[in-house]
Amino acid sequence: MEIIQAYIQALNSLPFYFFIAINSGIFITYISNQINFSIKNRKENKLRHLKLYRSVGEIKEKNNNKFTKIIELLFKINDKQDYINIIKAIKIPEDLKEIVNTFVQNVDEKNLKYCAKNLKNVKIENKNIIKHFKDYLSNLAKPPFNAGFYHYDTNIIDLFIDSKQVLSHEFIHMCTNNKDHCGFNLNTRFNEKIGLGLNEGYTELLNQRIFKYKHCAYPKNVGIVKLLETFFDDPKDLQNAFFSNDLDTVIYQFCKYGTKEEFFNLLENLDNFTTGPIPLKDFIKYHKLQFKLYEIIKRSNEPNKIQNFENVLFQNPLNQILKNGFSLIHLKQTSKRLK
Ligand SMILES: [Zn+2]
Repeated sequence: MEIIQAYIQALNSLPFYFFIAINSGIFITYISNQINFSIKNRKENKLRHLKLYRSVGEIKEKNNNKFTKIIELLFKINDKQDYINIIKAIKIPEDLKEIVNTFVQNVDEKNLKYCAKNLKNVKIENKNIIKHFKDYLSNLAKPPFNAGFYHYDTNIIDLFIDSKQVLSHEFIHMCTNNKDHCGFNLNTRFNEKIGLGLNEGYTELLNQRIFKYKHCAYPKNVGIVKLLETFFDDPKDLQNAFFSNDLDTVIYQFCKYGTKEEFFNLLENLDNFTTGPIPLKDFIKYHKLQFKLYEIIKRSNEPNKIQNFENVLFQNPLNQILKNGFSLIHLKQTSKRLK
C-alpha cells in the first residue's frame, strides 16, 4: 500500500486530538529538519564564498575606454539578429503563449537571444506534488520544497503547482540560460558556483514587474536586489548584465563604492535567504544588510543615487522605524558621553 494512503487511512480512524498530535509531530520534525538543513547549508555557503573571495583578484574599475566601446559596437553588429521574428516562427507550448507575448513586449530585443534559442525545445512537465512530498519525506536532507524548477542542462521546466507566476519565473530562467550559466547563477573556473541568491532575486523582481504580480517569491532577495539596482546609473545596465550572464558588471559597479569583501558577503547572504530559511535570524540579517548597503551607497557621494536608494529603502515602514531606532541609540550614546 502507498505510504500516503496508509497514512490517510490511519488518520481517518483516529480520534481528533490524536490526529492533531500526529500532525504537530510531523510539523515539528519538518521544521527542525529544515533548520538543520539550513545550518549545514550555511556553513558550506560560508566556506564557498571564502574560497571565491580568496580566488578572485583585486577588483579594479572596468576599462571603459574608447577601445572597449569599439569592440562592443563590432560585437553588436555581428550579433544583430531578428529575435522577435525567430520567436514568432516557433511553435510555442500552449501554456507559454501568453507569457511569451507579454515578455517579448517588455524586454529589449537584444536580450531575447536565449529566449529565441531555448523556446524551440523547452518542455514543461507537470509533476505530482504528493509524490514529490513523499520523496521529500523519505530524504529530509534534500533542499526545501520548490513550487517549480528549471533544469538548465535539459531545458525542462518542472511544475509542482498550477500557477502562472511559478511558470513565468521558470520561463525567465530559461531566457537567461546559455547552457553553462543561468542569469547571474554561474559556474566559476574555481569549480564553485556563484550568484544563486542574486539570480533568484533578480529573476523574481523581473517576473513581478513584467507580469504585474502583487506578491513575490524570495521576498528578501527581491528587496535586496531592488536596492542593488540603485547602484547603477541606469537600471537597464543590470538588466542587460542579467540577460548576458555578466556578473562582472555587477561586481565592478558595486565595488565603485563597496569592497570585495562586502560584495561576497552580500552574495553569501542572498544565497542563505534562498536555500532554507531560519526565520528570526534571516529577519535580522535582512534589515542589517539593507542598512549596510545604505552605508555603502552613501560613499558614492551621488545625491541622485542616494535619493533613489532611500526611496526604495523607506518604502518599507519598518526601515523608517529602524532608522529612528538607530538615531535613538546614537542619542543615548551621546548623552552618556555628556554625563
Ligand atoms: Zn528560480
